Amino acid sequence: MTKFEALGLDKTLLDAIADLGFENPSEVQEKAIPILLESETDLVALAQTGTGKTAAFGFPLIQKIDSNSRTTQGLILSPTRELCLQITNEIKLYSKYEKNLSTVAIYGGASITDQARQIKRGAQIIVATPGRMKDMISRRLVDISKLDYCVLDEADEMLNMGFFEDIKDILSNTPDDKSTWLFSATMPREVSTIAKKFMHSPQEITVGTKNAGTSTVQHEYYVVSGRDRYPALKRLADTNPDIFAVIFCRTKRDTQRVAEKLIEDGYNAGAIHGDLSQNQRDLVMNSFRKKQIQILVATDVAARGIDVNDITHVINYQLPDEIETYTHRSGRTGRAGKSGISMVLVTRSETRKIKAIENKIQQKFLSKTVPTGSDICGIQLHHLANKIKDTEINDDVDEYLPAINEILKDVDREELIKKLISAEFTRFSNYYKKSRDLNSGERGERGERGERGERGERRDRSNRADAPTSGSVRYFINVGEKDNYDWMSLKDFIRDTVGLEQDDVFKVDVKESFSFFNTDAAVTDKILATFTEFKVEGRFVNVEVSKNPGGGGARRDRKRSGGGGRDRGGYGGSSSGSGRDRSKKRDRSYGKSESSGNRRSSSSKKRKSDFF
Ligand code: ADP
Ligand code: MG
Repeated sequence: MTKFEALGLDKTLLDAIADLGFENPSEVQEKAIPILLESETDLVALAQTGTGKTAAFGFPLIQKIDSNSRTTQGLILSPTRELCLQITNEIKLYSKYEKNLSTVAIYGGASITDQARQIKRGAQIIVATPGRMKDMISRRLVDISKLDYCVLDEADEMLNMGFFEDIKDILSNTPDDKSTWLFSATMPREVSTIAKKFMHSPQEITVGTKNAGTSTVQHEYYVVSGRDRYPALKRLADTNPDIFAVIFCRTKRDTQRVAEKLIEDGYNAGAIHGDLSQNQRDLVMNSFRKKQIQILVATDVAARGIDVNDITHVINYQLPDEIETYTHRSGRTGRAGKSGISMVLVTRSETRKIKAIENKIQQKFLSKTVPTGSDICGIQLHHLANKIKDTEINDDVDEYLPAINEILKDVDREELIKKLISAEFTRFSNYYKKSRDLNSGERGERGERGERGERGERRDRSNRADAPTSGSVRYFINVGEKDNYDWMSLKDFIRDTVGLEQDDVFKVDVKESFSFFNTDAAVTDKILATFTEFKVEGRFVNVEVSKNPGGGGARRDRKRSGGGGRDRGGYGGSSSGSGRDRSKKRDRSYGKSESSGNRRSSSSKKRKSDFF
């Protein structure tokens, strides 16, 4: 008998669990499932993110629902569309052997009539965001008057987001004798209020310490001067070549700015914040999930939906105003039993806030120093050596080997390694050669170059970040690397198609399946007119002005891009550490060697990317 079986779960669920590869129940599952299966009770369960709460309520819910009846019996409320979709997805996986059980997601930003139609077909379980749910109730598109179970998932976040009134409204449309199951990472006063007001003597279970941060997360802080935040951030990223991180900023503006700088500096970065359209946010999230974006810069609100496992680092570019928020941020890493690191950049005067957080999360921070340029060079070298060691040999090189061996015949192994490493490494070490100590209070030699110059590489003029953008317009286009574009070829394509001059198209950021570019506002009409009902190889190529209202309309704001991307066609997904500028350089020469440059084989791209 497996441990899941011992909890009282039926065969259909056990089979699905086996398919998912879950071996043992997590703590919250072990505690919650028997209670929920055995009795009709209200429940308050406190457990951190990544502890398996979805299954803790999902398994019992699926088992208790009568799938032969089409009545809506279970409602799961969750704070964001993103989470809503994830829960729906999980529930569908859990119930895959449950014939006739239908689960429908209800959330804003998508067609309400489509959702209503799905519900009409019969949905025993609805997973919804409070806003859209309330909307649908008031339009009588959904009937929850026969509900048996209501789950409030991530209750603290829902309340944080101001959904109290909506939740109250929704619950008032449900029968009194239903069971309410509340799941939350933390127990702020608002959550206790909900529990008192809407629940009947709930049983309570707690996993780990109340309000404690995830214990698999190590917390670190770095003291830097305010203006060194950005260079320090880069060093933290460079120290971790395989980083897969979320960086939190306090404002949308900073979020966009940091992401743009990272992209300009050659990182696989992207931004997610409230000024982006839903479509843009989805694309960025998808790229992040697929690890085409390695560094996601986010505001707290936009990050509420981020539920991605494997995040290695959370970096607090600035501390949040509320300590509670820190817990949510750091909980994005260390999920599903994996370890993670939450880093905080603070100025000297902010160090006292660290104490306050330590008290709250009941965990100590490590005080760390920002790595020096030479530390980073060492790490990168090591990474490079390993990368070479692990590179899969491509048999296609065989036919060229005799000629290559001939050239290298007088170079011995040791020398060959030195040369190989140097070829890749010299440029990188140049970035950091004159770098200074960024640790506040222990300032070392000041480099003669500013931090922008720390990666001394010059970018191509025509695509450079400081190309004239005042009066420029940013566009979104639905083609990217998967259509075999890199920044040069996409630029050529747009320029040739619209009939523009060499430098009219700039700031081209190519991502896997979409891209961004800028032009002068004067040609916007021409661009949009050209790309109306425009097809390439039978497929619509669509261009929209990138939606980023922002405030003020200052130069910086106009430069806003939606999701970030790197104009380095073909390197998507490879964690290139700091070979980024090099890869770019290579891209350029490869791009040029092809006539009109639009199409080049993705296999040749792959091979190159393997190198770093
Ligand atoms: P929470 O809602 O507490 O943040 P989730 O329910 O989203 O956590 O679960 C986090 C991840 O752990 C998911 O990918 C899920 O599939 C996985 N998971 C859940 N329960 C188990 C288990 N018993 N064994 C292994 N993985 C699990
Ligand atoms: Mg969850």
